[in-house]
Amino acid sequence: MTEPVTKSEPVHSQLESADFGTINVVERNCPHCGRDNADRPANRYSHSVWKIRDCADCGFVYIDRSPVYEALKSEMAWEKTTLIEEKRRADIRPISYKFSKLTRARMHLFPRTKMPDLVDSHALPGRVVDLGCGAGDQLRGLDDRFIPFGIEISDQLAAAGNAYFGERGGQVICAPSLDGLQAVEDNFFSAATLRSYLEHETHPQEVLQELHRTLIPDGVAIIKVPNYGAINRMIMGRKWCGFRYPDHLNYFTPASLRRMAEKCGYSVKSAFSQRLPTSDNMYAILKKTA
Ligand SMILES: [Zn+2]
Repeated sequence: MTEPVTKSEPVHSQLESADFGTINVVERNCPHCGRDNADRPANRYSHSVWKIRDCADCGFVYIDRSPVYEALKSEMAWEKTTLIEEKRRADIRPISYKFSKLTRARMHLFPRTKMPDLVDSHALPGRVVDLGCGAGDQLRGLDDRFIPFGIEISDQLAAAGNAYFGERGGQVICAPSLDGLQAVEDNFFSAATLRSYLEHETHPQEVLQELHRTLIPDGVAIIKVPNYGAINRMIMGRKWCGFRYPDHLNYFTPASLRRMAEKCGYSVKSAFSQRLPTSDNMYAILKKTA
């Protein structure tokens, strides 16, 4: 068992990126064990100024610098980075990728993985918080036994989410997730949904720890992240759809997600649902145990 990380002051610097111009970034050590891996060669999936590191101590895979949260609200907002990513991929995406998506859709091999359904199946009635909730779309259709809450960094999206969540007795906190959670009392939420969120978070472990405090005993965190351990990644290499530079900062495998979750006091309640080894994403239900 690794010792808890003592967080040192963040180191800020500036980067010149062909796609984004000058970006203010914060340097990252391994988000799981805290090791500085700058002495290690960059992973072969690195792209441009974005260096992917394999931690020498714990094996966690991550981009070693991230745009500051302020940048994520404006020049690095999701809509803009998405356009740039689409451009990057347009040239390299082979036919086999489209084929593989189509085949899987045809074979109906996806399990029931909508967040409201998963909440229904795994959580006790109560308040549910969606981290990085955007305009609240992920929790639409949530059963009446639950009250939707959210934390969202973008003012505009948070306002849109608030309109819907407010009707149901909940609200959206406009803040980075860690700050937003810190404002919440202990044992407040019966569940949290982290759909396509944790791979973007500069401080995934701190967020999971803080979330743990705000969950009721037996509360659950429902997580969906790209699966870096997917066979598709090994086949597709740099073309794998899980790579987004620099939106995806953390590259989890089932094992590394489990290790981080257990370190933060959760047990992995359900098996990682991957019907196919080629699945690009994985799901985990974490339960607050400690
Ligand atoms: Zn590490």
